[in-house]
Amino acid sequence: MISIKNLTKIYDDKTKALDNINLDLDNNFISIVGQSGSGKSTLLNIIGGIDTPTDGEVLVDDLNISKLTSDELAEYRNKYIGFIFQSFYLDNSYTVLENVMMPLIIARVEKKKRIEMAEAALDKLGILDLKDKSSSDISGGEAQRVAIARAIVNNPKIILADEPTGNLDSKNGEIVMDLLKEISKDRMVIMVTHNNEYTKYSDKVITISDGKVL
Ligand code: ADP
Ligand code: MG
Repeated sequence: MISIKNLTKIYDDKTKALDNINLDLDNNFISIVGQSGSGKSTLLNIIGGIDTPTDGEVLVDDLNISKLTSDELAEYRNKYIGFIFQSFYLDNSYTVLENVMMPLIIARVEKKKRIEMAEAALDKLGILDLKDKSSSDISGGEAQRVAIARAIVNNPKIILADEPTGNLDSKNGEIVMDLLKEISKDRMVIMVTHNNEYTKYSDKVITISDGKVL
């Protein structure tokens, strides 16, 4: 359960990206829609602890993340959040398996367990056969599935996906949407999308306009 209270974000003392947002989120699969520049990514990034509010607060369960120090926020991100971005953000100098293990290295999980957990996540997404490939040698559709495996490997409570299908063709877009639906069965998925067609996968749709929830 995420509770957002009077959340405002102002960039550079002038751009009001979020304007006094109040929201309670407790569905399993939530989509956020709205025009470009309306504040969708800012909202997602604040929930994920990679950006901070100018005003207001965000409570995740009973944890007030707006009050955390930057070290505590890093721990929160590692423990609670899995991120999926439009442009995958895999490290192309590593293999698929090594990319998926990254969050576990940060969480100081020992090596044997790390490999076991990363292989289980790849297996769950049906791409275990890619594990030894270089991340630079796979297709976009495969790369986004690897990024999803990396997002769930640590078993976080919340997955934040910012236009996860934005760089994919419609066939791979649907594969990714089916996977997000599947992983939303045992955690919360919050997805920003430009594709209104894909809101049908979610059980709640939030529309943002000029930094406000409609
Ligand atoms: P969306 O994801 O809906 O396209 P964003 O949340 O990225 O919108 O941006 C909302 C507004 O905040 C836009 O006007 C954008 O230019 C501005 N903005 C976003 N990030 C920054 C930043 N780091 N510095 C300055 N302005 C920003
Ligand atoms: Mg955005």
